[in-house]
Amino acid sequence: MTDWLARDLQHLWHPFTQHDEWATEPRLCIERAEGVELIDTDGKRYLDAVSSLWCNVHGHRHPKIDAAIQEQLGRVAHTTLLGLTHPPAIELAERLCALVNLDRVFFSDSGSSAVEVALKIVFQAQQQRGQVQRTRFAALAEAYHGDTIGSVSVGGIDLFHGVYRPMLFDAVRIPCPDRPDPEAEARCLSQAERIFREHGDTLAGFIFEPLVQGAAGMRMHSPAFLAALCTLARDAGALLVADEVATGFGRTGTMFAMDHVGVKADVVCVAKGITGGYLPLAATLTTEAIFGHFRGPYTAWKTLFHGHTYTANPLACAAALASLDIFQHEEVLAGLPPKVEALRNGLLLLQHRCVVERRQRGLMAAVRIGPFPADARMSHRLALACRDEGVIVRSLGDAVVLMPPLAMSPAQIRTCTAAIGNALTRLVPY
Ligand SMILES: *Cc1c(COP(=O)(O)O)cnc(C)c1O
Repeated sequence: MTDWLARDLQHLWHPFTQHDEWATEPRLCIERAEGVELIDTDGKRYLDAVSSLWCNVHGHRHPKIDAAIQEQLGRVAHTTLLGLTHPPAIELAERLCALVNLDRVFFSDSGSSAVEVALKIVFQAQQQRGQVQRTRFAALAEAYHGDTIGSVSVGGIDLFHGVYRPMLFDAVRIPCPDRPDPEAEARCLSQAERIFREHGDTLAGFIFEPLVQGAAGMRMHSPAFLAALCTLARDAGALLVADEVATGFGRTGTMFAMDHVGVKADVVCVAKGITGGYLPLAATLTTEAIFGHFRGPYTAWKTLFHGHTYTANPLACAAALASLDIFQHEEVLAGLPPKVEALRNGLLLLQHRCVVERRQRGLMAAVRIGPFPADARMSHRLALACRDEGVIVRSLGDAVVLMPPLAMSPAQIRTCTAAIGNALTRLVPY
């Protein structure tokens, strides 16, 4: 039986998906991929313009990553980091620390887990350094840090998080504009000053998505705004937690978004792009000072009692090491400017009257369309219509997100933006 699309409806529960809608709309089943193209069960090819949910970096089936995983498979697929260690985890920890300029790496397997670990580390570090009143977290308005309960607690997207409020802990919400407008940022900053003054003594940490709030629809702020918030938080005694899950590994044009900001966070979370988009792996990096608060005799009970079965899975670590090799040897970051430029130009060419805003930083972009009532599902319909143009994108609120793999060529990026224009013109003729 190869009727995958019919069988899909029987037992699968898709993430972030209303199944009443999914069951009635055209569905795609992806069987293979090559470079930046996904190939469905009918052999039709599509450009992967959302990097398979923001994680693919160097394209699919990259020979070096494929080979690294196969080589590791010839040694061991999984062995634990609880009470044992293994070479790929050791080497990856060394290289991540050098890259992020931090000292310690705690591995897990999703961005949400990396954030949970960060929250627990920061909370426990404050407790164990005697700052027992520091029990709360400050987080940005419209934040998204993942879907587990701790990360949802610091999240601020009502549509995703509202229903869970009664089971969440309270975060101190820091206002944040949706675009880097100097006046709006100044207003938010003066409110933030007051909030940090009022609640600063109770804050364990301040968590933020640096420069781009992806899941909120590519809301963006300036490096100067974020640097000012970080100074306020640090002066209040809070530890800084940068959630680079979406922005890490080249997305914003630099290796990490914090490279634009010039502030060193105390804790950094990475996931999505870490393995080049191959396997689930995440990491929470911290300073040696924070790590120091967890040391002592066993019966001082200072241990971080947290871990996951597949922590630092060797296959995933091998993929991550190969991905870092590609960054290094193929000068991936140096090759980005023409791609970023192609995206910028492509977005500018979208002159349809329903395009109300374009947002971009590096290879992260969104096209907002409107005005349409929510039940018209226009951004979603636009994303579906792009498939007829041979391009896979996803909608987010009233926007369509474009997040091409770093490996996509300028010409392919232009094909993606043109596809949005063509699809929109088919949906809403001039
Ligand atoms: C995707 C995302 C997460 C969650 O990562 P998962 O691997 O999906 O759990 C956390 N933070 C940010 C900023 C993200 O974009």
